[in-house]
Amino acid sequence: MQYESPKSIDDAISLISNASGNTRILAGGTDLLVQMQSQVADPDLVVDIKNIKEMKEFKKEDGAYVIGAAVTGMEIAEHEEFVKDWPGVVDGVKLIGSIQIKGRASMGGNLCNASPAADSIPAMIASGAFAIIAGPDGRREVLVEDFIKGPGKTTLKSNEILVSIKLPLKKQNSSGAYLRFTPRTEMDIAVVGVGVNITLSDSGICEDAKISIGAVAEKALVVEDAASALIGNKITEEIIEDYIEKVRASARPINDKRGTVEFRIQVIGVIAKRALNMALERIR
Ligand SMILES: Cc1cc2nc3c(=O)[nH]c(=O)nc-3n(C[C@H](O)[C@H](O)[C@H](O)COP(=O)(O)OP(=O)(O)OC[C@H]3O[C@@H](n4cnc5c(N)ncnc54)[C@H](O)[C@@H]3O)c2cc1C
Repeated sequence: MQYESPKSIDDAISLISNASGNTRILAGGTDLLVQMQSQVADPDLVVDIKNIKEMKEFKKEDGAYVIGAAVTGMEIAEHEEFVKDWPGVVDGVKLIGSIQIKGRASMGGNLCNASPAADSIPAMIASGAFAIIAGPDGRREVLVEDFIKGPGKTTLKSNEILVSIKLPLKKQNSSGAYLRFTPRTEMDIAVVGVGVNITLSDSGICEDAKISIGAVAEKALVVEDAASALIGNKITEEIIEDYIEKVRASARPINDKRGTVEFRIQVIGVIAKRALNMALERIR
């Protein structure tokens, strides 16, 4: 196996473009190294991106946050201004493994690994985040919900690389939350997860909402019906019941050892309600 640690994005792209065998990008390695150890992945070339400056940058550009693909979970969780602006995304990142795992694991790696149960993805989707992708023909931006194609599958071509994740300008009177259900409190995989982002008017009417659910389909879903149940309304108990119903109706989970279809559909409504209330509380 060949290991390379380029210093620029152009060099990384030329390495992956000219490679003939199986190539993998290495960020924190908390997914990739486990996959290599268990022979799920057997790359001929590993391209480590941690020595590329832009991949490790966490900056604000024109009011939007741009988080390099190799910025670690701990770096995100400790960024005070970001924590205030995008608490829902931080909720998701903070749930990734232990402190030790978050000291290595990146949000970019969580996104590119494309697990249906990944914790940062519904939160990123609810926040309107974009994936910034670089390839031989330049750069392109896609919404995070369009980046994932299915379990372990993304829109990245074999000669492309995720450079960063962009969080748009935070609107006034808005906030978010991400919650998941796991049988254990830590170091477990989401049985269901819900990301919520909501904007209220001064009079308390919901002006905008974006809801995403994880671990209940082949990829994290955007639940437009649930957002529509909130938009234009004061968030009363009746409205919340309608929202919960819409979330449950969109879930299409599988039966597995961690939860039945019925259980997941039941629990996702409970978690969706809690995440919404958490976001509302944060606005107040
Ligand atoms: C003990 C343990 C607990 C965990 N708990 C959780 C949890 O609670 N929730 C959760 O969601 N995840 C969890 N994970 C999974 C993992 O930690 C996360 O998915 C993490 O965010 C991956 O980031 P990374 O930087 O380590 O990615 P890596 O392992 O480096 O990469 C992951 C995948 O993405 C690709 N990749 C990485 N960066 C790029 C890029 N810039 N461009 C193109 N492809 C790229 C790699 O080739 C690889 O296929 C856990 C893992 C472990 C080992």
